[in-house]
Amino acid sequence: MAILNIRIIGDPVLRTVADPVTEFGPELAKLVADMTETMEDVDGAGLAAPQIGVSKRVFTYRIDGVEGHIINPVLENSDDYQPDHVEGCLSIPGLGFPVRRFRATRVSGVDMHGDPVSIEGEGMLARCFQHENDHLDGVLYTDRLEGEDRKAALRSIRNANYDSVTERTTAKRAKTVGSSFGGASFGGPGAPGPTPGSSFGNAG
Ligand code: ZN
Repeated sequence: MAILNIRIIGDPVLRTVADPVTEFGPELAKLVADMTETMEDVDGAGLAAPQIGVSKRVFTYRIDGVEGHIINPVLENSDDYQPDHVEGCLSIPGLGFPVRRFRATRVSGVDMHGDPVSIEGEGMLARCFQHENDHLDGVLYTDRLEGEDRKAALRSIRNANYDSVTERTTAKRAKTVGSSFGGASFGGPGAPGPTPGSSFGNAG
């Protein structure tokens, strides 16, 4: 297993619609194992394959002790929404904004062996499924912001000079970030908005 480098916003792979997985073998098993190890290393709540530079429809998740992976996922969302919570993204370090997400999500797909998988989640787990699945379509959570939050996010991203900080951020991330997507910082009482140095960057 190996800990992989996480791609940062500006990398074209994050804006590419990922391809379905068609081959189930040792290479896929290694990808899932490496993604799981990387997610755990950064104490992340989830990780999508494009975030480590692999344009395949795979994501891992880890919310409140519910951990796993899914391949070629298809989402069915509830009609209603959950209360907005601050989300971050490992590929957009240092930022966090409240995002509107569906209340409940059923994700169906297959596991690394090609066997069918179907999991239903609410709250943070549903949020994680929606966030990670967006990555497979080249969508980032900042795309879902509106109004002043959107302006603030785009401004922060523009000003962040991510190109020069990427290596440093990646190297330091495991030590500097705190709780996970489902942890206290995610949706906690902290003020939303650009918060460099905060732990919001931990969501997948
Ligand atoms: Zn993300």
